[in-house]
Amino acid sequence: MSTTTPLMRQYLEIKADYEDAILFFRLGDFYEMFMDDAVLASRVLGITLTSRNKGDADAIPLCGVPYHSSQGYIAKLIAEGHKVAICEQVEDPKAAKGIVKREVVKVVTPGLVTDTDTLEPKENNYLLAIAGQDSGYGISHIDITTGEFRVTQVETLAQVESELGSLRPREVLLNENESGRAIKKQIDSLLDGLMCSFLPEWSFEPDYVREQLCSFFGVSGLESFGCQELPAALQAASGVLFYLQQTQKGELRHIRPLQTYHTRSFMVLDESTRRNLELTATLLDGKKRGSLLGVLDRTVTAMGGRTLRHWIHYPLIDRDQILARQAAVAELVDESLQRIELIEALDGVYDLERLNSKIAMASANAKDLSALRSSLEKLPKLDDLLMPFGSTCLKEIRSRIDLLPELVELLDRAIVDDPPFVLRDGGIIKDGYNEELDELRTISREGKGWIAGLEQEEKERSGISSLKVKYNKVFGYFIEITRRHLDRIPEDYQRKQTLSNAERFITPRLKEYEAKVLGAEERMIDLEFNLFQEIRLTAATESRRIQQSAEALAELDALLSLADLAHERNYVAPQIDDSGIIRIEAGRHPVVEGMPLKEAFVPNDVHLDLEKNQLLIITGPNMAGKSTFMRQVALITLMAQLGSFVPAESARIGVVDRIFTRVGASDNLARGQSTFMVEMNETANILRHATSRSLIILDEIGRGTSTFDGISIAWAVAEYLHDNAQVAAKTLFATHYHELTDLALTRGRIKNYNVAVKEWNDQIIFLRKIVSGGASRSYGIQVGRLAGLPDTVISRAKEILRNLEAGEFIRAGEPRLGGSEKSPKKPENTQLSLFNTGLEDAFRARLESIDLSNTTPLEAMNILDDLKKLL
Ligand code: ATP
Repeated sequence: MSTTTPLMRQYLEIKADYEDAILFFRLGDFYEMFMDDAVLASRVLGITLTSRNKGDADAIPLCGVPYHSSQGYIAKLIAEGHKVAICEQVEDPKAAKGIVKREVVKVVTPGLVTDTDTLEPKENNYLLAIAGQDSGYGISHIDITTGEFRVTQVETLAQVESELGSLRPREVLLNENESGRAIKKQIDSLLDGLMCSFLPEWSFEPDYVREQLCSFFGVSGLESFGCQELPAALQAASGVLFYLQQTQKGELRHIRPLQTYHTRSFMVLDESTRRNLELTATLLDGKKRGSLLGVLDRTVTAMGGRTLRHWIHYPLIDRDQILARQAAVAELVDESLQRIELIEALDGVYDLERLNSKIAMASANAKDLSALRSSLEKLPKLDDLLMPFGSTCLKEIRSRIDLLPELVELLDRAIVDDPPFVLRDGGIIKDGYNEELDELRTISREGKGWIAGLEQEEKERSGISSLKVKYNKVFGYFIEITRRHLDRIPEDYQRKQTLSNAERFITPRLKEYEAKVLGAEERMIDLEFNLFQEIRLTAATESRRIQQSAEALAELDALLSLADLAHERNYVAPQIDDSGIIRIEAGRHPVVEGMPLKEAFVPNDVHLDLEKNQLLIITGPNMAGKSTFMRQVALITLMAQLGSFVPAESARIGVVDRIFTRVGASDNLARGQSTFMVEMNETANILRHATSRSLIILDEIGRGTSTFDGISIAWAVAEYLHDNAQVAAKTLFATHYHELTDLALTRGRIKNYNVAVKEWNDQIIFLRKIVSGGASRSYGIQVGRLAGLPDTVISRAKEILRNLEAGEFIRAGEPRLGGSEKSPKKPENTQLSLFNTGLEDAFRARLESIDLSNTTPLEAMNILDDLKKLL
């Protein structure tokens, strides 16, 4: 049977160890795939499926891709969620006795892509392992292209979800035991579309875990990692290493020492808050453009971009750390000239982190080494430019920049300025670097020169003016003579080949020089390749130092990005303290203010504290700007805590431990939850976990159900947040239930605000200004008209609204929707009396909304006019 040929036996033996991967089996210049792998790959890649022993009953399906263009095919298979095992010939076919030895040298999986050309430059590509224990959940993540390797331990699954949300791994590892499978089940909707691999239970045993970590890092104890007391964290980190060892057979020296982090050192952001605040992607299309990161990211290097993204997902909560970063930003804002020069100097720096990993894993080519050289050459300038800066943060960055002069000198001496991509064609090493290479080059050059002169010499000797010296791969150098001159060829010519109208000859001297030239060239290419490998190895031994500089530059780039934006958009440095106060004057929404609006963006103030202004009820018409205002407060707070300046005239931010949001409608059908259920889940989560140091944004809670239920829930939630000292967080609460404004009458720390609008001829004009006091009307119908609802619908809606406002209800408590049965009068002792929207209330609300100290005489006249109209 054909499956029992020696080659197929070798294939099947190797394949048996990689059943879950598509095996790329190297045969000469191709990677071949067989059997089920071939069927699958040909479908995914759109390449032809053929078969070995075509026509036989036991024909084996087969397809293949050329070795040189394999990267693109591998990337496609990975993107479609497959693993690819790369099996190479590991001995020289010429030297092999029998079948060439082959081995899998690497398994490419979505979380372990090393071909950085197929990755987003400004995003990490994480592999993440989760381990569950009684003590909590361990989460460890690694980016093999940058060497980052971190671990943490958390208590709840919600925290696991939050980490998944911020890290957005491409692949997740779990224990294959019951607990691992249970975790997967519980977070399944978040793992949607991610590759999940299960690791054997024994690899999570404490003794194995310990041994694994110690031997990988060559240490005798776990103390240096700072997680020796966190058993689940250790398991997760060891799970990552276990998987690495299974899939990466090469060098991994660029993996950084395991770093333990604690989620309590950072502001907590749950998954829905990250999404709702559009931190790194918009809700609408998941793109970076239009998100907070889209505005903040002006980094000029890929590593800076990744760092800034990380800062946004992990805002600080330690006042001193925040102020340290802010001081660096402030210095860079002040020193505009230096800032611009620093940005210019950084601009040409390549992705040192990823270059470093490629070098360590021996996949870097000469172009990569040239990119390393040109990046390192920028360091002295950056070092000089940083010298005058005095902030601790910038000084520390400067001290971490290692100029690596010996490496730069070596690369400069050895690698040509613009080397080719291919390593096997020579042309990489500079003249003067290696004596032997120089000699070979001279021989080759002289030989070629002799051959070039030969044509003229032979023309003269033979008198044949059309004589040509040519070269091809099969015959090497030869002399070509057209048929009609054949009678004149010299005696020492030896016939090599006959063509239709010419003959080709060689001479002993020509072959002698040819041997010299070709021999020298072959040796040159081998020598250049070996020299290149030596240099790459030397660079690899400096891996840690390169990484240290790369990290410092990444931080510098992120700080410069914040400073550049602050300067251009007139941001201010917020005052940071632990006062519990958030006071923003003339704050702007960082994203909306930069959008092409029809109107100028209107800045707004906010004051939140724990004494009198803990919960602000914000009413106002649809489209008035409530959501924008509330998000703006959350984003400014978050920006302040990541060390950035903020879009405002002034800001004081008492550090918050967590931002919660309950915004907008979304459902989670994957988890079998309706829109209202999601809303209630998120609200329950907030009420359970908020502390007095948190900031809560509630946008129209209760709107997903009937009006009465909705109002009742909204009312009770507001009361709860006010009355329970434990959860009494600073809260912005937007609602269309104007009834809620009554809460301020009995609750001391609840205040009413509304977004001002102007009425004009049954139309409304949005003023976008947040003013104190409750709104009197919703103007929903007017907004509906603006949106283009048909006139009949608008007038019918007005009729229904009149009945509602007159308190006409049918028995089931729903508004009478037909014509009025009774003359409109104020309902007595009904549940709704609490929410009276009568004339007196309207008057009161309007009067309350007046901010006398900010009202011009003209505005006062207008207000009086409004009031008269109300009458
Ligand atoms: P709804 O109650 O219908 O959800 P809303 O009151 O939350 O509406 P927003 O979504 O915040 O209203 O704002 C609507 C639009 O108004 C925004 O898309 C933006 O274009 C504009 N807008 C909001 N705030 C401002 C502002 N301060 N200055 C200028 N334009 C603004």
